[in-house]
Amino acid sequence: MKSAPATLLAADEPPPVTVYNEAGASPFLLVADHAGNLLPRALGRLGLAEAELARHIAFDIGIAGVARRLSDALDAVLIRQNYSRLVIDCNRPLDAPSSIAAISERTPIPGNVGVSDTARAARAREIFSPYHARITAELDRRAAAGRATALIALHSFTPVFTGIARPWHAAVLYHRDPRLARRLKPLLEADGEFTVGDNEPYSVSDATDYTIPVHGERRRLPHVLIEIRQDLIAHEEGQRAWAERLARLLPQACSQGSDKD
Ligand SMILES: [Zn+2]
Repeated sequence: MKSAPATLLAADEPPPVTVYNEAGASPFLLVADHAGNLLPRALGRLGLAEAELARHIAFDIGIAGVARRLSDALDAVLIRQNYSRLVIDCNRPLDAPSSIAAISERTPIPGNVGVSDTARAARAREIFSPYHARITAELDRRAAAGRATALIALHSFTPVFTGIARPWHAAVLYHRDPRLARRLKPLLEADGEFTVGDNEPYSVSDATDYTIPVHGERRRLPHVLIEIRQDLIAHEEGQRAWAERLARLLPQACSQGSDKD
């Protein structure tokens, strides 16, 4: 068996995490766990054809464009992951079977079969950990400054999964604290006559999620995971429209909360 390299990313490769609008003054902190589809050179293409790497299995199509525009519109800090979820999924606990997925939807990922413990540790150390450490540092900094924060995790989902068409335009996901999700959902529905999933097509759990349980729930921050259907944000026009929509509705959802809570 070939020994795994001690390091994964070469010095000239992009960093795992990018912070956009670092000085943003908004209470919203935007995070995008699946925004990127880069692969470390050392992993080749994980044995996949180029076309597979452009599909939703590799990343959340369209969400990087929405996130950047939303960050601009809200003056919010955005922390985004740059490498493909197929390298290591930054919204999965490290011990979840789907952390380094050997199969995604129906596509086997050859480069993720029989990954050694050393190689697994390198992916965690160089991709997963710096991303979450950056989110932790940002949240610590805000807490120390006594600054209010609402954590918004941005994702997108494929319109057709395993051959089944999905009816939702967008969705709000949550687990222990539904407050922000429950306020945002009717606002989204009213705004565009949208069908908005309530913990569909996915829901948040400790076994299948990392960002909301760890950064949102444990710190008792207001939070929501927002999913947008990928065909709606595949192009710039849709990305702009959804960023503009969320920039209007998220502050409304939060201000409702401060009136009632
Ligand atoms: Zn995602």
